[in-house]
Amino acid sequence: MINPHYGNIPPSYLFSEVATRVRTFQDANPDQRILRLGIGDVTRPLAPAVVEALQDAVQEQASDATFRGYGPEQGYAFLRDAIIAGEYAPIGTAITAEEVFVGDGSKTDTAGVQELFDADARVAVSDPVYPVYVDSNALAGRLGEFVGGKWSRLTYLDCIESNGYRPSLPEAPVDLVYLCSPNNPTGTSLSRSDLEQWVTWARENDAVILFDAAYRAFITDDSAPRSIYEIEGAEEVAIEFGSFSKTAGFTGLRCSWTVVPKALRREGASLHAMWSRRHATKFNGTPYIVQRAAEAIYSPEGREQVQADIDYYMRNAGLIREALNASGVAAVGGRNAPYVWFRCPGGLDSWEFFDRLLAEIQVVGTPGVGFGPAGADHFRLSAFGSHEDTLEAVARLTTLIPALGRTDSSPVLVRSES
Ligand code: PLP
Repeated sequence: MINPHYGNIPPSYLFSEVATRVRTFQDANPDQRILRLGIGDVTRPLAPAVVEALQDAVQEQASDATFRGYGPEQGYAFLRDAIIAGEYAPIGTAITAEEVFVGDGSKTDTAGVQELFDADARVAVSDPVYPVYVDSNALAGRLGEFVGGKWSRLTYLDCIESNGYRPSLPEAPVDLVYLCSPNNPTGTSLSRSDLEQWVTWARENDAVILFDAAYRAFITDDSAPRSIYEIEGAEEVAIEFGSFSKTAGFTGLRCSWTVVPKALRREGASLHAMWSRRHATKFNGTPYIVQRAAEAIYSPEGREQVQADIDYYMRNAGLIREALNASGVAAVGGRNAPYVWFRCPGGLDSWEFFDRLLAEIQVVGTPGVGFGPAGADHFRLSAFGSHEDTLEAVARLTTLIPALGRTDSSPVLVRSES
């Protein structure tokens, strides 16, 4: 009677385990100041232009003449048009407002998109990656058995030092591939030629690319595409996800978009029509006031204010990356994404390194194993903290790392107990 796949999926314990270990340490050491570079959430408040738009929209809801109830499931035209004008027209893509579906966060849609595909569809993901892609397919029963830390029917595209932390084209046949660029957790982004290869591969193999661009606003390198639709022919092979969460501090407000091009068809079916039907069946729209708030990030003041917050985080990212590199750790990311990623020094695995950082310098990061098996000996530091905490954390890291030895050396210290 019940879905058996819920019983097969391993528990998602990463962040609760992090919280438990931090709490235990703090209880035992109440005077120590812990610096948190593990968070995947923003910390800066909403931009003033966003707050003003929210307040105005709330006022509209307070009067007969301007009250709004249910809105269009696909999103209000004002926001769909603003997304096109703000995100897609400037980079020369031909995506239209009708192909944009406003949602309440990319998690919802990156988890839901797999419903458009057959129960037997073969899936590939970058590894390590945002875990929602894998878990949503596992719950749908598409991934086989979970054995030895891996799903038997999932193709893992390892993103490791030797390939510059970028996924290589699958060797086995695959129908769906999830790509995230800039990627969480590695902070690396795919170049134009990488994406050209992917689009060509998808066209030749009749595959569909599910392209998560939640961190597109953090790209500073102009040669990295912000959208897969910058690549010719991508509208026939790709669905793209964008989010206001990290771009503009909407992790609490909740607003996102999904692009399903009308040109994307498989086996005679329009994926746009299918997604439209699914969206209308399962979703009743993002709140009007939130859509007005999202629209405000595209006003001249909104743009400036949101960019200032992104610059703030990216300054932190640069500091973290440079400090690690200066300590002899080959860190990646931090240029086009608010995450820095590196192999744990001293041959430690990611939980061992977590414990050492917490115990010895009171810095909290995220163990890479939580993002997939290829992350087992890697670590993520996030730039979403305050500038002051980041500076302090970086100073502490630069004292600890040399003591642990370089990444390519064998362990130099006795490992902690946990
Ligand atoms: N995609 C990636 C790669 C993420 O890291 C996240 C959140 O951390 C999301 C999507 C989901 O974001 P939201 O649901 O807040 O839009």
